[in-house]
Order: sequence, then C-alpha cells, then structure tokens
Amino acid sequence: MSDIDCRVMKMNKKIFRSSLLVALLVLTASFVMIIGILFNYFQLQIEKELKNEAMYISIAIENEGAEYLKSIVNNEERVTLISADGTVIADTSVEAEELENHLDREEIKKALADGYGTSVRYSETLTEKVVYYAQLLDDGSILRVSTKQYTVVTVLLGLSQSISAVILFTFILSFILSSRVSKSIVKPINELDLDDPENNNNAYEELSPLLSKISSQHKTIEKQLHEAKKQQEEFSLITENMSDGLLVIDKNMQILMCNTSAKKLLNASGNINGNVFSVNRSKAFRQSVEKSLGGERFENEMIYNDKHYKIIANPVYEESEIIGAFIVIIDITDTIQREQMRREFTSNVSHELKTPLTSISGFAEMMMNGGIDEATVKDFSKSIYEEAQRLISLVIDIIRISELDEKSNIFVKEKVDLYELSEEIIERLKPQADKKSVKMNIFGGKAQVYGVRKILDEIIYNLCDNAVKYNNNGGTVDIIVRTTDDEAIITVRDNGIGIPESAQNRVFERFYRVDKSRSKEKGGTGLGLSIVKHGAVFHNAQITLDSQINEGTSITLKFPT
Ligand code: ADP
Repeated sequence: MSDIDCRVMKMNKKIFRSSLLVALLVLTASFVMIIGILFNYFQLQIEKELKNEAMYISIAIENEGAEYLKSIVNNEERVTLISADGTVIADTSVEAEELENHLDREEIKKALADGYGTSVRYSETLTEKVVYYAQLLDDGSILRVSTKQYTVVTVLLGLSQSISAVILFTFILSFILSSRVSKSIVKPINELDLDDPENNNNAYEELSPLLSKISSQHKTIEKQLHEAKKQQEEFSLITENMSDGLLVIDKNMQILMCNTSAKKLLNASGNINGNVFSVNRSKAFRQSVEKSLGGERFENEMIYNDKHYKIIANPVYEESEIIGAFIVIIDITDTIQREQMRREFTSNVSHELKTPLTSISGFAEMMMNGGIDEATVKDFSKSIYEEAQRLISLVIDIIRISELDEKSNIFVKEKVDLYELSEEIIERLKPQADKKSVKMNIFGGKAQVYGVRKILDEIIYNLCDNAVKYNNNGGTVDIIVRTTDDEAIITVRDNGIGIPESAQNRVFERFYRVDKSRSKEKGGTGLGLSIVKHGAVFHNAQITLDSQINEGTSITLKFPT
C-alpha cells in the first residue's frame, strides 16, 4: 500500500469517527430533550387535572359537607380537607386524627396566600413523586388533591429494555450511515488524478484552488527536473569527453562519480562505486584523498602501470563544512618523456658541439704557436674549415629540429607537388652525386600534398642526401613518386651500404649513427633521419624502412591526401 493510500485510509477513519460521534451526540441530546419536554408536559397536565378535580370536589363539599370525602374511592388520588389552622379535617387515604398539622406544607402556604398552590415532593428512593394541588375554599378551609407520578428514573428503568434496543438500533444506524458518509466524502478525493490535477477533477469545487496550486507546483517541479537533467547531461558530456580522469567522492570516501577517462587511467572497468581505495591503493593516491578531505588542495605524482600521473585533489565545501572532494588524474607520461628527451638532447648537443670546437681550437692553437710549414698550415686550415662547416650543419639541423619540436605555427601549409620538389632536390644534390658518380633517377608523376614546403623539402633532401652519402661509387639513387586514392607516396631507394637490421629501429633517433666516424667523415650530424621522422609526424605521414646490408636501403613515406 502506498503512502498516499495509507493517508487516505487514515482520513477515512477520522471522518467516520467524527461523523459517528456527532450522530451519537445529536441523538443523545435529542433523547434527553424529548424526555424533559414530555415530563414537563405531563406534569402540567396532571396539575391541570388536579385543579379541575379540586374544583368539582369543592362544589361537592360545599353541598354535602366533609362527609363527601368518604364517598371517594380512588387509589390513585388522595383528597385531604384541612382547616384554616392546618388541622386535617378529613382524608381519603388516612384517618384524619393520625395526620399532623399541615400548615407548614408548601402548597397549603401558597393556597392560604394566593387562593391555590401546587408542590411536588419526591419519595426517598426518588422512584416516585407526589403532585399536590391545594385550593382555598370559601369557608377558609383548604382542599388538597394529590396524585402519585413515576419519576424520570422510574420510567427510564421501566423502559430500559426498549431504550437499550432503540440505542443499539440508532448506534448501528449511525455506524452504517457514518461509514457511508465518510466513504462518499473520501472517494472523490481518492480518485483525484494528481498527475493532472486541473483536468477531470470536478469532485469538490472547494478543492479547485488547492488543485491549481498542485498543478502549478507540478509544472515548476517538471521544469526544475528538466533543468537538472539538462545540467546533468551537460556535466556528463563535459566530463566524459575530458581526457583527464575525474573522480568525485563524498566525505566517507565513497565514489559519487567516476568518468570514463578515470576508469581507463586507473585500469578499472564496469560500474565503479564503493570506497575510492578500491580503485587505487597507492600511497600517493591515498595521501591525495586524505589531504583533500582534510581541507587541503593537494597535488601529487604517482607511477602506475609504467605511466606517470599527476593527481590534483580539491576539497568540496558546503557552508564551511567539507562534504567531499574531487580528484583530477592527468596522464603526464608524455610530458615526462619529452622532458627526459630534451635533457638528453641538450647533453648530446653540448657533446656534439664540443668535438668540432675542440678540434678547431686545437688546430688554431698550433697555428698560433707557429713553427709549422706552409703545407701543414694549409692542412690545418682545411681541417678548421671542415669542422666549422660541420658546426654550421649541426647548428642548422638543431634549429630545424627545435622548430619541429615546438610544432611552431610559423609554418604555412600549401599544395606541394612531391615530384617537382624531388626534381629540384636532385639538381641541388648533383655536385655531391657527381663526385661519387652516383646516378640519380626519378620515376612516377605528380603527387600533391597539402603541407609545408620547407619541411617537405628537408625530408626529401635528407633522404636523398643519405642515399648519396651512404652509397658506393657509381651507385644509383631512385626516387619514385606515385599516388593512390588517398595517399601521395614517395620512395627513395639506393643500392648503397645498407643499414644493419639491429640499427634499423634506431636510425630515426637523434644523434644515432651506425658508424660514427664514417658519418662524421661524410659530414653527417646524426639528426637527418630524426628531422625526417618529425616532418613525417607533422604531416601525419607513415614511414617504412627496408634495408639490406651491402644491397641498399629504401625509405618510403605515405602522405594522406
Ligand atoms: P647522419 O647525419 O649521420 O646521416 P641520419 O640521421 O641522417 O644521420 O642517419 C642516421 C644514420 O643512419 C647514419 O649515420 C647512417 O649510419 C644510417 N643511414 C641513414 N641513411 C642511410 C642509407 N641510405 N644507407 C645506409 N645507411 C644510412
């Protein structure tokens, strides 16, 4: 049974009890009043009869004298003749001599004063009463007629059975009627359609203001619910699309909300609820939760499943009382790795710069000290020149790689034809290629890429430069440019020295060289392929390397078009 049904039933009982009580009270009051009115009426009737009788008897006494009383035989009534001094002259029930002086009787006193008098006297048991009527006769004597009458108590006692039956009957009748009345009052209320209070609810006109109030509250609640739902959806949309994990907990550390990213980061699945430590028990996580629930904003780092996370925990207050906390979990693995790479790069750069500078400084010092023949000075100058050239190439490459690292938006994208660009690069590399009698060929046709010309140039230049550099004398370099439905593809293939399989994964790392002295000798910086990789990532291009030692190397880049 619903709460509303329960309340309606209680209301029904209340109405029933009240109406039953009212019915019984009205019945009792009517009963008492009717009995009272009836008795009063009978009393007056008796007095009237006694008066009439007294009148007839007085006439008879005037004619026949006191002897007349002896002729009256009536058990119901008693007639007494009393002299003016109160002495009883004659009485129909008792011998006159036996009776005491009646002067003090109330009705006698009244009769002596007013000509007639009445009085009522109750028996000791109150079951009977006697009504007296006294009348002053012309000769000064007083004639008194009296009769017995049952009191209310006697009548009620005598009729107790019938009265009980009537009471029982009226009680049952009241009970049935009250029950019906209460049901008929409650029924329309029970049938009210509170979901649509203003329609089809015509039971009581008096309820209209209440029903329209309920209706307007209904509308307000619906509006508020709609707003709350909208806000909830917006909140879910935002939190679900966050790449960071978000956890909301109450003050008892129970999870109130956990977004998908948090589940993913913490490697949890399914419906997450219960204690927050069921999700993660690491020291850093515990500390963050405890500190935030202690009222402190707390930031911490944790390593979980080989990943680095930053935890930011904030307390949530309601009227200066902490009611919970929200915890943001950010995956900082990439940042940490980038920082690590930057540190390594800086130390590598320092090292790479130091080597040519040390050579330059050494040659210059020897020349400064003098005593060197002209031919040696020429050799030293050549070495200084070459080392300086290396330094320049190194600095240029470092600048390029830094630009790509910062994903600088100074780059302007445009449509670039890889075939045309390759032809230009072949021209530029011709002197180096001719020096080694390396033949450079281009195959294919137009392949347009929407990209940054400068970066695309560096990519193809570095690939072709390596293909010439690490080639044998008289070798060949083929550049193949082609397109598919959704890709522009360029392959730079040589038949040079090749890259050992163990190094193939590492050649794209910064400063990695298979043969350091050989690369140095060829003027390499160890950054060429790293620039190619960065450039490819910038253009969302895919790189594949295929190489066989002493057979040659082929590097392919696929650009989405
Ligand atoms: P470098 O400036 O030394 O050429 P790169 O990053 O361009 O640096 O290349 C890294 C290393 O990969 C080179 O030192 C070289 O050993 C190897 N390598 C690159 N391209 C080729 C190629 N076409 N044939 C053989 N080895 C190559």
